[in-house]
Amino acid sequence: MSIGVTRGVALRGITGRVVDVECHSGQGLPTFEIGGLPDTALRQAPQRVRAAAIAAGHSLNQRQLTINLSPASIPKHGTSFDLGIAVAALTACEVLPAATVRPIVHLAELGLDGRLRHVTGILPAVLAAQEAGCTQVVVAPSDVAEAGLVDGITVSTAATLEDLVDGYRSLAKGEPPPPASVPPEHVAASEGRHLDLADVSGQHEARAALTLAAAGGHHLLLNGPPGSGKTMLAERLVTILPPLTREQALESLAVRSLLGAVPAGIDLAPPFVAPHHSASVPSLVGGGTAAVLPGAVSQAHHGVLFLDEAAEFAGSALQALRQPLESGEVVVARARERVSYPARVQLVLAANPCPCGEGFGKGLNCRCRPTERRAYAARLSGPLMDRMDIQVQVPKVSLADLREDPPDSSEAVAARVMQARSAQAARWPADRWQLNSHVPGPVLRRAPWRLPSATTRLLDRALELGQVTLRGYDRVLRLAWSSADLHGRTIPSVDDVGLALMYRTQGAVAA
Ligand SMILES: [Zn+2]
Repeated sequence: MSIGVTRGVALRGITGRVVDVECHSGQGLPTFEIGGLPDTALRQAPQRVRAAAIAAGHSLNQRQLTINLSPASIPKHGTSFDLGIAVAALTACEVLPAATVRPIVHLAELGLDGRLRHVTGILPAVLAAQEAGCTQVVVAPSDVAEAGLVDGITVSTAATLEDLVDGYRSLAKGEPPPPASVPPEHVAASEGRHLDLADVSGQHEARAALTLAAAGGHHLLLNGPPGSGKTMLAERLVTILPPLTREQALESLAVRSLLGAVPAGIDLAPPFVAPHHSASVPSLVGGGTAAVLPGAVSQAHHGVLFLDEAAEFAGSALQALRQPLESGEVVVARARERVSYPARVQLVLAANPCPCGEGFGKGLNCRCRPTERRAYAARLSGPLMDRMDIQVQVPKVSLADLREDPPDSSEAVAARVMQARSAQAARWPADRWQLNSHVPGPVLRRAPWRLPSATTRLLDRALELGQVTLRGYDRVLRLAWSSADLHGRTIPSVDDVGLALMYRTQGAVAA
């Protein structure tokens, strides 16, 4: 009886755990079994591993092989354990040197011809390996760049299992190891950065609202007729937000890695994700039938989630967004496990004033029946709308707007946003809240942050008259602080509160 051990990573969401892949080789009837909560794809690994081993010139067919993935209690998914299982088995059969392969993390699927193949989730797996103190990983050639995004890890690759076996044998004899082909990391230029707020003519109020949303991290509803430039505005929100930290960018990429789409470099621009209004609940918030995959709200983590034609989304889809907006994460419960994905997003909704889109201004061209308008408005009300701090009208652009001087560029606006964010960072304890939109209402209503009653008179009156709820009252306060920060005031003025109250109440779709 002999044993071979190497390493792999079990992923749950974007959280990974380094797992020992052990293979016991014994006498007796030829078998190849896998223990340690494998899923269907993983249970089929022996077929792929056997074929790949034969392609590498080593038959495992006459052996009694038992694979144990340890710790056995956590579920293991997918095909990324193939390579580790092959290496452990070949070590147990004394083909590979035990000490050489023991500390190395293997992450690749094996083709029947022995080729190392791409797997999803490389980035979160390698991040987990780094956290666990591992220093070497082996991945498929197509995954080298993605694995190389993680600091402090030596990434190696081989085209086939045979090449890898040859490499390990040379290494054990003291010969130079197989060449590690890690391309130098580069920061990819973001597509988002080609957009600029200077492209948007007119729309002074909407531009101001967008700036305010960026400053304090507030959710935003853009309400206006088709063709007024709501999408243009929403797309440009990411151009005025501060760049991500490297850590945030990696976290955001780790989510995309599970869907198999990671760019070649680290992009520090916040993500912008715009799902179609036909999106299902799982594609919006996460889930799925086979694997639990992240949804649009997690792909937009640390960035902007934009729902165009928000009233056309299924009510269930909009309601499903409430929990992630509240907690900053999505939790999907399954029979054997709970998977959570990060989902801290800034939400931007765009809506037409009515089903036909012409019901703005005096609404003379609107062809909708009153019942249609009411039903439409009802879809844009309720708990999700209550979370939209800023609701702003986006009118059609006039000819006069087009003749104006070009407005401020994204760069200029981003600098003002940055200043407003510095003011927030200086005011709030860093371990609790980064942005005004994160601060709980009671904190803003009590000393030392309570505003003088002369400042809040208009807002207090609106609360008394039932024009705003207490939740809405708190949202106006948060927004007023962002307005003050943007204008360099140390405390909100009457105007800041008035502006915030207007944004809270004016954009609502009128029934
Ligand atoms: Zn209409």
